[in-house]
Amino acid sequence: MAETVLVDAHCHLDELARRGLAVSDALAQGHLAGVHQVVTSGDGLEDSRQAKELAEAHPEVYFTVGWHPVNRRPPTGVELEELRSLLGHRKAVGVGEIGLDYKFRAGYMETPPAVQREMFAMMLRLAAELNKPVVIHQREAHADLLEVLDRAPAVTAMLHCFSGDGQFAREAERRGLWVSFAGNLTFKSAQDLQEAARVVPAGSLMVETDAPFLAPSPHRGQLCHPALVRATASWLAVLRGECLETLARITTENAREFFQLPGS
Ligand SMILES: [Zn+2]
Repeated sequence: MAETVLVDAHCHLDELARRGLAVSDALAQGHLAGVHQVVTSGDGLEDSRQAKELAEAHPEVYFTVGWHPVNRRPPTGVELEELRSLLGHRKAVGVGEIGLDYKFRAGYMETPPAVQREMFAMMLRLAAELNKPVVIHQREAHADLLEVLDRAPAVTAMLHCFSGDGQFAREAERRGLWVSFAGNLTFKSAQDLQEAARVVPAGSLMVETDAPFLAPSPHRGQLCHPALVRATASWLAVLRGECLETLARITTENAREFFQLPGS
């Protein structure tokens, strides 16, 4: 029987290491679960640099370079230049994560919406200029997100850790956005998300862990790592009435096309 090959389309390996799981161990466990490629993401300059180092150290790791809404101000000119130069790396496969997060959490998510929109638009322009796909983070900001996207130069974009219902999924489809599901898809309370998972077209579907966050059921509450993308893929397959092998083949082909990863 052919092996089931998966791509973890979005995670944070540097943060996973800080929480106690060494990257080489995480990747080895991933391999045993069929996870052959992993895209680790930067939230800002420092962890985009770390993501680059991880990609240089591990053949199966690729990275994106981002400026997350958690940064309370746009990058300075010097910072923007460094982001641009990181994006010139041979394993830099996208701009992200970037986006809008309107769920206020004191000490974490305190950036005013207008500043967030400005930073998001700035990073979309950078992606368009460099012809890179973008990885979008969004929370409770559907309408503004679509509005900023509609005004920005056209880019290929994925909604990472998709959160929304079937209607938002259809809205995403209309705009040609790709959609990536994470472990929260498997939570009991995730009926809206599960409805969305049934309507996203096969051609734009991906799976991710967002590790070390959001471990899928039955691992909920544990440290999340790339091997667990298999559990999310299994849930997604059941929701869509497909077998895991088919779902894995589709999502792996999609992730490779979206990020232009080599086949293995
Ligand atoms: Zn993330």
